Amino acid sequence: MGNIDRPSLRSRILTAIGLDKHSEYVDNYFFDANIKSSIYMSAIVIVLEVWMIIRLTRTVIVERLEDQLPHLFEKYYSNYFILLAAGTAMLIYAVMYITKRTKIKGIGFTLKWLFSFICIYFGIKVSMNDYAKGEQILTFLTMELFVVCLLTWRPVVGFLILTSSYMYFFLQLDIMVAHNTGEQGLTLATQINSFTMWLSTMLFCIANYNKTLSQAVKDERLEKMNSHLSRISVEDELTGIHNMVYFRSEAEKLLKYVTTDKENSVFLFFDIENFKSYNEKYGFHEGNQLLINTANLIADTFPNSLVSRFSDDHFVVLTHDEGCIEAVNKLSARITDMQREVSLQLKCGAYKPTEDETDPSLACDRARFACNSIKKHYETNFASYDKSMEAHFQLKQYIVNSIDNAIANDHIKVFYQPVVSTATGEIVGLEALARWQDPRYGLLPPGAFIEILEEYRQIHKLDICIIDSVCRDYRDATANGRTFVPVSLNFSRLDFELCDIVAELKYRAEKYGVPPAFLDVEITESALTDNQGLLKEAMAKLREAGYSVWLDDFGSGYSSLNVLKDYQFDVLKIDMKFLSGFENNPKTRPIIQNIVNLTKELDIISLTEGVETREQYDFLSSINCGRVQGYLFSKPVPEEELRKLVEEGKLKVSHDFESIQK
Ligand code: C2E
Ligand code: CA
Ligand code: CA
Repeated sequence: MGNIDRPSLRSRILTAIGLDKHSEYVDNYFFDANIKSSIYMSAIVIVLEVWMIIRLTRTVIVERLEDQLPHLFEKYYSNYFILLAAGTAMLIYAVMYITKRTKIKGIGFTLKWLFSFICIYFGIKVSMNDYAKGEQILTFLTMELFVVCLLTWRPVVGFLILTSSYMYFFLQLDIMVAHNTGEQGLTLATQINSFTMWLSTMLFCIANYNKTLSQAVKDERLEKMNSHLSRISVEDELTGIHNMVYFRSEAEKLLKYVTTDKENSVFLFFDIENFKSYNEKYGFHEGNQLLINTANLIADTFPNSLVSRFSDDHFVVLTHDEGCIEAVNKLSARITDMQREVSLQLKCGAYKPTEDETDPSLACDRARFACNSIKKHYETNFASYDKSMEAHFQLKQYIVNSIDNAIANDHIKVFYQPVVSTATGEIVGLEALARWQDPRYGLLPPGAFIEILEEYRQIHKLDICIIDSVCRDYRDATANGRTFVPVSLNFSRLDFELCDIVAELKYRAEKYGVPPAFLDVEITESALTDNQGLLKEAMAKLREAGYSVWLDDFGSGYSSLNVLKDYQFDVLKIDMKFLSGFENNPKTRPIIQNIVNLTKELDIISLTEGVETREQYDFLSSINCGRVQGYLFSKPVPEEELRKLVEEGKLKVSHDFESIQK
């Protein structure tokens, strides 16, 4: 553990001398760098050679040396022309490569070697002549610097080029000097000077290589990072198809193009019904596999279309509407084929954009709206958005866009519905139920906004606002010496994901001085099927802090009994659907009685909701159902109205809680 892989000695030596393997990117980087350098080199060489040719020709003309032309040609002109030709070829290639007119690297590679070889050869020849005339060997040195330092070579290659050319040059020089003087060759001073030159050139070559290499590696990393970032910015990481951001921007472009056949285009929104249950039953991995398979099927079904995954099990496609219903039906059948013990159904909502439509987000929302309209309609898998949905759709948009405003402007109100004890007939609690008093739409019941706020993950804002109002009502009542009874608050299962709702509750209760006994939390049965860990933890925290936790809508789902086994509750609210058949269905009474008996055994208080008739109340009272709630006593009403009902004597409030009211 903790052992970082260190490169072995062998690989470090190979790296140092430049015999290690480079990635393709680094190889290309070196090639490009060399091609760029060779532009400067060849340009200088061309200018130099042209100048040399002109100079020599002028001398020939001025000094009338025409008869020596063959000799001059052999000794000078031929070299000048060869170098000029090599430089020109190199330059032409480099320019073509940089301007992307050629990609053939083999030519560039050969030219680079040829050009380098010719340069050095030229340097040696000229300097030999110069030295013979008693001049310096500057041309040789310049050419060495040119080739070895302007171009980037792997150190071992640089070493070979440099060493062999130096050795060849100085050997030739040595022979020449020895021949001319008849004595020994180069002096010791020249030998030492040459060695120093060789060494410094070699060091420069290594430094140049390392600098270029590290730059190349850095660039490569950046490039990789960039391409990763740009890929994930347009791609859905799980399924590999496009993501919502890409879809929106491409769809927007398509909607703007005059050439797009909008009339025959359609937005399709897909949702896999029961995906959540599938995920829970088979686990994350299988759930993800299902999403990947679905994404591939959708992409195959709609080739040449814009296909994307928006979130979870939501996919959106922008395609041609011809044959689209048949395609959806086929697709649906294939998704159903993948189902196991959880039944799966692919739902699709379609929206055809209008001629002047430019906002893909709204189009997707409308398609989604159509899709949601057939949720739980098992016989249908396709719905087209139509005019009748528009008013409802507008309201939904309005809700999502206005929740913050509504909270800030006090449009969210708390209505209270009394909870009555069957033993005393007095109010022993109140349920806080949200209402939206909207300036445009009037008084909206929770049915108009709760589900929408949940869908758009905004519900916690509303629930926090209700907690705040209830706590304030408590403070006002206490400050004015009025009796207050415990209030139960409805928490959405999403509250536990979207915020630290327990902390929010504690904070507000402390701020307004509300003792925990005055606040109860209702959690609906259907909330308890997913995210069990998170909820269990939150429930434990609530109980620890002294809040009661109630189970709401008991019997409305399919996991009722399991829920009782797995979680601890103080009050169980029997769903009002049990009372719906009270008058005609003989099974109703024994069922309710059984539930009430069960709660007694589990030491939980039972509360039946939706009590509307005296007969129902009498029955519940006779079987010792502890508490009741319903229109028989009162509908949910604003606090002032409830107070009036109490003052008029229509309802009686229990005084049991006065001793703990601070
Ligand atoms: P719920 O928690 O089951 O609330 C009881 C609903 O039944 C209330 O509807 C109430 O007005 C209605 N009700 C009470 N007695 C009777 C009766 O005798 N007969 C009939 N037919 N209905 C009766 P409401 O106020 O429209 O609330 C509907 C649902 O909205 C609530 O169901 C609750 O799930 C949700 N909700 C309400 N307020 C909030 C809130 O502040 N936060 C959250 N997350 N959900 C809320
Ligand atoms: Ca409730
Ligand atoms: Ca309920």
